[in-house]
Amino acid sequence: MSGSVKSQFVCENCGAVYPKWQGQCGQCKEWNTLVETLVEKPKASLNSRNRQVLYENGAELIVSAKSVADKLEKQPPRLATKLYEIDRVFGGGFVAGSVSLVGGQPGIGKSTILTQLIVEILINNDNLEVIYVAGEESPAQIVPRIQRIIKASAKEKNIKVESNNVLSRLQIVTTTDVDRVIYLVSQNRPALLVIDSVQTMFTTDLTGIAGSVGQLRESAGRLVALAKRQNIPTFLVGHVTKEGDIAGPKVLEHIVDTVIEVSGDRTGELRVIRSLKNRFGPTDEVGLLKLTSGGIEQVTNPAEVFIEGKTLGQPGSALTVCLEGSRPIIVEVQALAVSSPLSMPRRVARGLPISKLHLLLAVLQKYARISFEHQDVFVNVIGEVNFKDPAMDLAVAAALISAKKGKAPEEKVVYCGEIGLLGEVRQVRQLEKRVKEAKRLGYKNIVTSKSLNSVRQL
Ligand SMILES: [Zn+2]
Repeated sequence: MSGSVKSQFVCENCGAVYPKWQGQCGQCKEWNTLVETLVEKPKASLNSRNRQVLYENGAELIVSAKSVADKLEKQPPRLATKLYEIDRVFGGGFVAGSVSLVGGQPGIGKSTILTQLIVEILINNDNLEVIYVAGEESPAQIVPRIQRIIKASAKEKNIKVESNNVLSRLQIVTTTDVDRVIYLVSQNRPALLVIDSVQTMFTTDLTGIAGSVGQLRESAGRLVALAKRQNIPTFLVGHVTKEGDIAGPKVLEHIVDTVIEVSGDRTGELRVIRSLKNRFGPTDEVGLLKLTSGGIEQVTNPAEVFIEGKTLGQPGSALTVCLEGSRPIIVEVQALAVSSPLSMPRRVARGLPISKLHLLLAVLQKYARISFEHQDVFVNVIGEVNFKDPAMDLAVAAALISAKKGKAPEEKVVYCGEIGLLGEVRQVRQLEKRVKEAKRLGYKNIVTSKSLNSVRQL
């Protein structure tokens, strides 16, 4: 295959083309912007007769809405794990031929989650086969994990599972040459394909090393084409760096159908999976999982993991109900403010953006006349999941004021409100759903924009 195909290096910034890699683009002077790309032969120009022949072959490019509706009706059901916390995030299961990118920091548990997913599919469907492409671990590392998960899953469901029956329907591929992977998959036609990880894949058509942007893009592109051609639901595991910089997987986001982010506090057991993009279902849906030695467990009662419990009712602690996807989750926010010896006091935020903390401190100073000027401020959202819901603002503000004054907020209060730049408390979406969840857990006193106009009244 190599030899006949040529590659070139294209600047991602200005589009300049070079035959060899160089650190700096000679045209726009940017550094590290050259990406290895395959040279595409320009199509021979067509005369009108050839054009007509070519275009007549494109009858499938126009379809009636009715035929689409008929096709949808006949579509096979989605492949599902029957684990509610996973299937919901994927919009009810995996669509034939869909490609999902599962991203997250190394070591966060992506492989464990996908292994569990494979095991559940194999247990639920007696006749299906799965291919797992292992670029990072040896089969001797993977198989014991699978055995543990089978055991735990059978115990959890209280059913008897023939371990050998599951193991015999799982093939492990140990090459990272994407073209060989594609060949093996085409020969075996599995019901599900997992690539762990896409960063280890490479094609000999390009000279760059595995994991370079060019290799990543080309390998993923070929795997996407394979999934579509053979209708195989495919998972690509993609690592992101510690800074949350998804420079690698970022280039893949637009070529896949679904982007799933795995996050959580690596030292704890809680993991959150979230759909950032989904062509076949809702986005921003979250699934809550606990990572255990036997795989993953579903978290059905979020209050267990997002409330510290013993700190409730202490100064600096406040509760809110976040809405993540369709799911209301009660969360505890903790704040600490202490006098600082530094000329630039520290601001530390865990589980929320630091910019949000800066903004809320500024609003409190201006509109509630509470200054943190000479104080170090720390805010922690229990669970360390990056909730993006602005309804949390009010709880963060309440926790900060409470920490500053050393006075606990009223007992059993839940705060739900977005705070504007002028200190106003804004209404949040789907308040009823949040109120219902708070009440279900025994919290009847809910502070919202209805009871509070401005942070001044906190
Ligand atoms: Zn350039």
